[in-house]
Amino acid sequence: MQVNTIKDQVFLNLKNYFGYDSFRANQQDIVETVLQKRDCLVIMPTGGGKSICFQLPALSFKGVTLVISPLIALMKDQVDGLNANGIAAAYFNSSQSSEQQLAIIERVVQAEIKLLYVAPESLASLQNILSETYISCVAIDEAHCISSWGHDFRPSYQQLGFLKKTLPNIPFIALTATADKATREDIIKQLHLEDAKIFIASFDRKNIALEVRPANNRMAQIIKFINARPNQSGIIYCLSRKTTEQLSKKLKASKIPAEAYHAGLSFEKRSKVQEAFVHDKIQIVCATIAFGMGIDKSNVRWVVHYNMPKNIEGYYQEIGRAGRDGLKSHALLFHSYADVIQLQNFASGAANEAVQISKLDRMKQFTEATSCRRKILLSYFGELLGSNCGNCDVCKNPPQFFDGTIIAQKILSAIYRLKQQEAMGMIIDVLRGAQNATTISKGYQDLSTFGIGKDISWKHWQHFIIQLINQGFCEIAFHKNNALQLTKFSSYVLFKGAKVALTKPVEISEIKPLVKEK
Ligand code: ADP
Ligand code: ZN
Repeated sequence: MQVNTIKDQVFLNLKNYFGYDSFRANQQDIVETVLQKRDCLVIMPTGGGKSICFQLPALSFKGVTLVISPLIALMKDQVDGLNANGIAAAYFNSSQSSEQQLAIIERVVQAEIKLLYVAPESLASLQNILSETYISCVAIDEAHCISSWGHDFRPSYQQLGFLKKTLPNIPFIALTATADKATREDIIKQLHLEDAKIFIASFDRKNIALEVRPANNRMAQIIKFINARPNQSGIIYCLSRKTTEQLSKKLKASKIPAEAYHAGLSFEKRSKVQEAFVHDKIQIVCATIAFGMGIDKSNVRWVVHYNMPKNIEGYYQEIGRAGRDGLKSHALLFHSYADVIQLQNFASGAANEAVQISKLDRMKQFTEATSCRRKILLSYFGELLGSNCGNCDVCKNPPQFFDGTIIAQKILSAIYRLKQQEAMGMIIDVLRGAQNATTISKGYQDLSTFGIGKDISWKHWQHFIIQLINQGFCEIAFHKNNALQLTKFSSYVLFKGAKVALTKPVEISEIKPLVKEK
């Protein structure tokens, strides 16, 4: 093939350096936008293929592409992988001697490196080369770490705001797998990427069946679950290190080989477990969330959450480690009230306590959902799934629905009348016409929506509002005192005649398993 354009060259590089015949969704668009020197924000689920989005343009730029990454431990793997593909890449961090560091800086000055991975803490040592003479592009991986609204805030990321000012004329590409709307906006603001083109890949992982069960006798349920899946690889996520060890012991006692993995184990032990898992020497790992980051294993068939995750981002990322090969996989989550209380305790006193608590609330709503769970997950990431997924426990064992359009209209118009500034409690008070100090002092009793829902109990309104949130028709702005706000889909219900199906509130009773287990 004759190389006519940059575009041809990029395709050739895709094939020659990475061995891929085609782009995945969005990748080509992103690569071209970076090459046109426009800033990008890329939101793509784990395993979606973010790396190529900056590695491929890097090959076409004259200078080096600086890759900011939070995990020193993973840098070496990434750089080794690139070098093995014939791409000149290096990393720069505090684990290196000053000679090694100087040698790398020299290679940058000589334009011998295409990609340089660096932790934010080490940027100060690169002061001399932080100039557009040497650097052609900046990629900021795990960009949500900059936001205290994200679930993995890292103070060292906050200083990255200065980079755009130092390097104003080269393209920046910020990437993350986990960003809700507020975090997304915060990333843009803090990195000064106001003109960035935003790419949001679909977060739908259709091949992963979603199931939530009450945590009654978890151990017995897990053993049954595993025995129904012989020779399959799986991860059991637990909240505490102790639980991972207890669980693996109990499984072994039931003739199910499983290893524990957590940050308290020695580096050697952790590497050994990880290696064995990746190479199918052990099938099951009982782990804390420390396990899985950067593990490229495509045939994980199931993920069990022994405890409830802190938030939907974490849950989504963890279940996303199943089924990367696209084959049928299963995510099973146990929910218990004790877990919720423990997580609430962890959050209390934290610097961003309010954020953590409202994220936990969303997680709770997910576990208590009576509508398609995939719809809820996707609405959390700003996507609207057209129809129910058919591959979650709620879809398979559906509760009874009724036409809740009028109820939905009442809720949404109350949100609108309250100028999208009040939290759920006040919305319900207004709907029920509660005469209390706040509603009176704010003059809410004069609103046309005041008291239009007297006939429905407080608890039931709450149940309906949660369903509307879960279906994407309204949302909680947790950085604005949890105010309920409308979404771009609200108008479908308010003005365009869309029907809304709601379920009657029911007590959580014994839930049948998603798949038959003998
Ligand atoms: P992320 O960083 O989004 O989690 P990666 O960049 O690590 O994802 O890519 C995930 C997997 O998908 C990797 O195994 C990678 O080799 C593969 N991949 C990425 N892009 C393509 C493509 N265009 N064609 C085939 N495989 C791809
Ligand atoms: Zn579903």
